[in-house]
Amino acid sequence: MSEQLLDGQTAVITGGASGNGREIAKTFAEEGANIVVADIQSEPREGGTPTHELVADDHGVDATYVECDVTNLDQLEAAVDAADEFGGIDVMVNNAGIFREQEFTEVSEDAFDQMMDINVKGVYFGAQYAARKLVENGGGNIINMSSVAGLEGSAGFATYSTTKGAVRLLTYALAAELGPEGVRVNAIHPGLIETEMTTEDVPIVGSESGEGFLQTIPSRRFGQPEEVADAALYLASDLSSYVNGESLVVDGGMTNTG
Ligand code: NAP
Repeated sequence: MSEQLLDGQTAVITGGASGNGREIAKTFAEEGANIVVADIQSEPREGGTPTHELVADDHGVDATYVECDVTNLDQLEAAVDAADEFGGIDVMVNNAGIFREQEFTEVSEDAFDQMMDINVKGVYFGAQYAARKLVENGGGNIINMSSVAGLEGSAGFATYSTTKGAVRLLTYALAAELGPEGVRVNAIHPGLIETEMTTEDVPIVGSESGEGFLQTIPSRRFGQPEEVADAALYLASDLSSYVNGESLVVDGGMTNTG
């Protein structure tokens, strides 16, 4: 058997119960990583066996679920600490996020604060708690989930773009600060990926507007969470050992061809 890319490492994945986070957990576990799923609930939004149980059963790795709302900093720190049980954190994936569409002139302070808290504050402090441990342990990787909305703006998504742009520049700043300590920090910018977020929260996939979007995507299809997970595997592993402070766009070509 060829060597596994994350053999014996431990990854903490926020929002790891569902969607992109769930697939990242499965892909990392397949490559030998122990997994901490940090999420509000363990049940996947799309249904099926809870992620931590699935990856332990399928790949024989250590895995656990920690109840964690990323806006609750005590819970977030506890999720990072939970990796200690498996030898300590090597990879932090700040993936939890929400996506809402709203006219800019109608956005309330509460709606703004909620999205900033989850999408930005959760990533910021998730990275901080992980960084403390990673620096102490001599290095590791932080992967922050941004979006193509963190690269360009679109109508109806002012708040979401605000949060994802912040995640992009936070990533670059942390790469500068933590690089000398052996910690690489990179961002993933998915395009339209088929998860409950794009089928339920903002129903684009499978809708008429989705058909329109497809014409702007050179690959002429929506992405799958497995494809985001493969990008995360690249960034988490030594395959990307000289990649730092980078934005990896996973969008079927949409952003650079519009
Ligand atoms: P998803 O299927 O809705 O999964 C998100 C997961 O995060 C869910 O398990 C959700 O829990 C959890 N979560 C929500 N708020 C949380 C909080 N406060 N604390 C901890 N966990 C929380 O969405 P997804 O498509 O996988 O999205 C994952 C990330 O990818 C997000 O950052 C999103 O912005 C980004 N992204 C997605 C797309 C796309 O097209 N799908 C594109 C670009 C970027 P519940 O079950 O309780 O809701």
